[in-house]
Parts: sequence; structure tokens; C-alpha cells
Amino acid sequence: MEEEFVANQERLKPQEEKAEEDRSKVDDLRGSPMSVGNLEELIDENHAIVSSSVGPEYYVGILSFVDKDQLEPGCAILMHNKVLSVVGLLQDEVDPMVSVMKVEKTPLESYADIGGLDAQIQEIKEAVELPLTHPELYEDIGIKPPKGVILYGEPGTGKTLLAKAVANSTSATFLRVVGSELIQKYLGDGPKLVRELFRVADDLSPSIVFIDEIDAVGTKRYDAHSGGEREIQRTMLELLNQLDGFDSRGDVKVILATNRIESLDPALLRPGRIDRKIEFPLPDIKTRRRIFQIHTLRMTLADDVNLEEFVMTKDEFSGADIKAICTEAGLLALRERRMKVTHADFKKAKEKVMFKKKEGVPEGLYM
Ligand code: ATP
Repeated sequence: MEEEFVANQERLKPQEEKAEEDRSKVDDLRGSPMSVGNLEELIDENHAIVSSSVGPEYYVGILSFVDKDQLEPGCAILMHNKVLSVVGLLQDEVDPMVSVMKVEKTPLESYADIGGLDAQIQEIKEAVELPLTHPELYEDIGIKPPKGVILYGEPGTGKTLLAKAVANSTSATFLRVVGSELIQKYLGDGPKLVRELFRVADDLSPSIVFIDEIDAVGTKRYDAHSGGEREIQRTMLELLNQLDGFDSRGDVKVILATNRIESLDPALLRPGRIDRKIEFPLPDIKTRRRIFQIHTLRMTLADDVNLEEFVMTKDEFSGADIKAICTEAGLLALRERRMKVTHADFKKAKEKVMFKKKEGVPEGLYM
């Protein structure tokens, strides 16, 4: 009864009122487009000149609720694009880079944590590790070391793991960014973030810049019509710019990673930029065995566990899947307060992981 009444009320609303309401609903859905800018000059209480990486400097208003005492030239501000006003202040601790860039002072992962991938380890040692630890060797022979490498292959095949292991063995700072986050988190600031990334890498050197999902930024260029596409192009151009700008003899190395190397812009892989490609295949039987060993090393297994059954299976799985199976099996035992993980736990775990994989659940949400 009440529902009918509400429905009638809806129908009786004047046309304009409804249109207005819809417009504001659409506005709400769209959210408030914000961009990050820099405060150049305070003109008076309510006005300032700001610059944004998207374009020229603007003379804008400052909304009343912004704490004016904290505004000073050089600080990062949030701008509302529609009303062209300063709507907030970015404190140092929420600097856009912080949420985009993950900095690890020498990661804990080492080569011993990697199953198989011997050829890949050898190649990355030559291209990244040796130039960082023994640059003089390259000088003696009279060749320039590579600026970095690109790792490619299916998800979960150990690309990030190997990049971290190299950083570990060279005691380099590991800076990780994800390509899609570079362009999505703060629209319009991709190029600035790329510049900032290389600046921080230089400050904290020796360092390894790891850019995952590089295809999000470095896909083949096409005519950019929309703002989003132009933004991707500008981010990519800045990346090329930075790659050309730094000296390969220095102590910053770049490691890119992608699952889709065929879609990458060849400009990125041109000689003198990132011209070394290392492929990461799905593990073969020997490697699977090793990865199972690595991930069960600290687990207490019951006598009936026969990991060979999973090593020899026809199902395709990656290193990340094997890790997920081991963790899931451990959790099953824990749930029943058992001290040992049984073969049945592994069987159930494998089914669960394979099922989630088929359903397309992102790895990491397997549990
Ligand atoms: P993506 O393309 O999705 O970023 P990736 O290739 O970078 O994937 P990693 O993040 O390195 O994959 O792998 C995820 C986890 O899987 C690792 O932390 C590690 O525990 C496990 N793993 C993957 N490959 C191996 C391997 N060869 N040996 C041991 N563990 C592995």
C-alpha cells in the first residue's frame, strides 16, 4: 500500500523538478573530479595562482572551508576542476607518491626463494646486478651496461619475486609502482609521478625502479582522442624521457614487467632504452617440484602427503598458484586445530585454487 503511494507521488512530480533531481543524481554518480596542483602564489584571502601538471597556471578561488593558515607557496593542493577552486590541502603524509609508490629498503626475498628460473636469474644478474655491484667491469671492457630489463610472462610466474631478489642481493632500494595506478590514482599527474619516481630513485640510490603492468602506460600509440588516452600518452612520453635522461652507468636500474609484451609500444624497447627481454614461462615439472618444496619447507606435513601427485598433474598452474595451494592447505588444517597438514588438505586446497582461477578471481583473493 505504502509502496503504491510512493510510486504515485513519483509520477506526480513536476517535470522540471524531476529533471533537476536527475541531474544532481548524475553529478553525484560522476563524483567530483579533483586534480592535484601546486600553490604558486597567494593573492588574497580568497584567491590564489596555482599550477597543475595538466596545463598552464590558473587564477582560482579558495573555498571558504580550506584552512588558509596552512596554505603557503609550494604546497600541494587539491583542486575541483568544475568550479576551478582550491578545495583542500595535501599534507605531506598524503603526498600522491606515497600511495602510488611502494618503497622497500632492500626486500627480504632472495634467490634461494625462487624455484627454477635459472636462465632468468642468470640474465638479470648480468643485466642488472653486475652493473650495480661492479660497474668497473663494464668500463674495463668498454661497453655500456643496459639501463634495465623487461620481464614478461603469465601472471604469478615470479617476475616481482625475481626483481625483489635482485634488489636484495645488491642491497638496493626497491621502488615499486603499478602502471595502472600511475594513471588512475591522480588523473593528470602521471607524468609528474614518473618524474618524481626517478627523482626519489636517484635520491635513494643504489635503487631498482620496478614498474609492474607497464602495458597500462606503454601500449602502442594510437590517435589519442579522449583526455584519458592523452594522459596515458603523456605519461609514456615522460617515461621515455626519463629513460633517455639517465645514465646507464649510474646506480639506478629499471625493471619493467608485463603479461602482454605484444601490445607494448616498440619505442619503449628500442636499443638504448629497455632492450633486454626476459621471458617467464609457466613452471615445468622440475620447477613445480622445487616451488612446492620451497613453500612447504616450514610446514608440518603428515606422513601421507604425496606432493608428487600435484607436481605431475596435467592442470596448468603458476608459481603463485602453488603458493596459494600450500597456504590454503595450511589454513584448512588450522581451521580444524590440527598440527599437521594432510594429503586431503592439499587435495581440497588445489580444487579450491583451480576453481577460483577458472572463475577469474584475482590471485591474492584465493583464500
Ligand atoms: P604478476 O604478473 O601477476 O604481477 P608475477 O609474475 O610478478 O605476477 P609474483 O608476484 O612474483 O608473480 O609471484 C607471486 C608469488 O608466487 C610470489 O610471491 C611467490 O611466493 C610465488 N612464486 C611465483 N613464482 C615462483 C617461483 N618460481 N618460485 C617460488 N615462488 C614463486
